[in-house]
Amino acid sequence: MVDRDVELVEKISDLKKKRNAVILVHNYQLGEVQDIADFIGDSLELSQNAAKTDADVIVFCGVHFMAETASILCPDKVVLLPDMNAGCPMANMITAERLRTKKKEHPQAVVVCYINSSAEVKAESDICCTSANAVGVVESLDAREILFVPDQYLGHYISTKTDKKMILWPGFCPTHVRIKPERIQELKQEYPQAKVVIHPECRPEVIALADEVLSTSGMCRYAQRDEVREMVVGTEMGIIHRLKKENPGKRFIPVSEQAICPNMKLINLEKVLWSLEEMTPEVKVPDEIRLKAIAAVDKMLRIGRKL
Ligand code: SF4
Repeated sequence: MVDRDVELVEKISDLKKKRNAVILVHNYQLGEVQDIADFIGDSLELSQNAAKTDADVIVFCGVHFMAETASILCPDKVVLLPDMNAGCPMANMITAERLRTKKKEHPQAVVVCYINSSAEVKAESDICCTSANAVGVVESLDAREILFVPDQYLGHYISTKTDKKMILWPGFCPTHVRIKPERIQELKQEYPQAKVVIHPECRPEVIALADEVLSTSGMCRYAQRDEVREMVVGTEMGIIHRLKKENPGKRFIPVSEQAICPNMKLINLEKVLWSLEEMTPEVKVPDEIRLKAIAAVDKMLRIGRKL
């Protein structure tokens, strides 16, 4: 660690104690931010941790919808997002108004919304899911028809695992669509021993080449298995930092140097420090939306405990 970082980390640590704050960090964040996490994980794990923390302040190092989910679950806590510009383009591909129109076209369908969506969209949905529990959530529902929003590719992946009729919203993650099947084929030839692990936000042609289709937390658990010595990692590059740190001696091969989510990289140590100093920017979901959205998030967390 360079001197500048040591000093910043010390200041963050002091202020964290003073504010009774916890730092939650997504697997795609910069390495320097991952290294100061009290907890690091995927959307599901981070929302579970937000729900059970007894800290007064949550510093959420991720993107806006994740901080909103923390605010939905913890209305009495201050939720800080160190850079308010850290949004998710996929979450922005749907609005509550457009979802209301779509629901009218499919009155029988149960609305399942991927957690990568705004609080307003969650408030219009019956239940949330994450990439870690999506198939289990859909399978647990007593419904024939599912309106799945906003990620068409996660929705398509679920449709290959269920008999239910899936109506898919045409959203997508701009980072995961950059991962190309031709590149996976090349890497398979170059590293014939490597396990190919792909995130379900990828295109079906990419998923078809996977040994395992896993969420980021699933990838981290899978990497720890003895039989995994080399792994082609089909998701955002940020996770490579954690995989290498937790598995010294193993080889992790990113699928593309372009698989970078610029929004996830907006947060750095300076911004975390400023955020704790100024206690801003704060993400707070208004009660009229929160009370509707929490029903969908809670339902997912309750089902998640049984999966
Ligand atoms: S990686 Fe994709 S889904 Fe995740 S925050 Fe970035 S744009 Fe959104």
